[in-house]
Formats: sequence, C-alpha cells, structure tokens
Amino acid sequence: MADEPKTENCENPEECTGKMGFVISEKTFGREFVEKVKEISGENIDKCMQCGTCSGGCPMVEVLQITPRGIMHLSALGQEQKIAKANTIWMCASCNTCAVRCPRGIDIPKVMEAMRQIFLRKNVNYIEPNQIPDEVLEDMPQIVMVSCFRKHTA
Ligand code: SF4
Ligand code: SF4
Repeated sequence: MADEPKTENCENPEECTGKMGFVISEKTFGREFVEKVKEISGENIDKCMQCGTCSGGCPMVEVLQITPRGIMHLSALGQEQKIAKANTIWMCASCNTCAVRCPRGIDIPKVMEAMRQIFLRKNVNYIEPNQIPDEVLEDMPQIVMVSCFRKHTA
C-alpha cells in the first residue's frame, strides 16, 4: 500500500509509522508550531482531511520515514519533535505532485518548506558539509551540492 511507510531507515519504527499512539491535550498540542507553519507557508493545514492522496502519488514515499499524509497530520497537531526526527521534510523533492492532486488545494511542498525553515532557523543543519566523505564530494555535480546546501543547511 502506498500509504504504508518503510521502516528500515527509522530509529524508532513505531514512532515513524505513527502506530505508537500519543495523547493530544492542551499541553501536548504545539500551538506555536502550528501557527508558525501557517504563517510561513501561507497554507491552512487544518483543511487536510487525511485522504492520503498526497502519499499515494509521492515519488519519494518509499524512502520517507513518515508519509506526506502523516506529516500533514502531525503538523496540524503541532508535533514538532516527531517531524524533526523523521527524514520526510528533508527528502521531499518539492516535485509538486501532491500539491496538484490534493483535493483540499493545500500546497504541501510549501508546508514542508515552512517546516524546514523553522528547523534551520534554529541553526541546526540537516547535513554537515564538512562531514560529507571526500569520495562523495568528488563525484557530486556542483549543482547538486549547491542545491543540497541551500536546502539542508542553516
Ligand atoms: S492530499 Fe491533501 S487533504 Fe489529502 S491527506 Fe494530503 S494534504 Fe491532506
Ligand atoms: S512535493 Fe514532496 S511530498 Fe509532495 S509528492 Fe513531491 S516529493 Fe512527495
């Protein structure tokens, strides 16, 4: 099934698949994170009806630790730490397939970008340029390197 995420890359598969329940209360609802995502993306993430169309057409879904649908769910609940632990927002190719298919008209790549911005503004890199092995750097086209650093470093 397209909406079943792969778990081999997950440190904590239950958490990655969202199968480990969690309680949402006034205390655990990340209101500030939700408002920030809405403000930066300009998207109303509350409109998501969890249909899974975004995950169904996503070309990256096989390598994502949380599906796009799952990320939309967690973002609307302000689950910043769960989103931060998964690779989804960093592996999203910004291809726009989900955005054109979403029945609620949500620009999901914009939401992913907003969350990347929130994390990068904390000055935490997803990729540390000085930790990339020399043999990878030697083979990496310059354009890939520039795009990668723009997307993954603060
Ligand atoms: S396609 Fe749109 S409405 Fe459906 S789960 Fe994805 S974001 Fe939500
Ligand atoms: S924009 Fe990202 S989440 Fe949406 S379909 Fe493309 S890779 Fe998947």
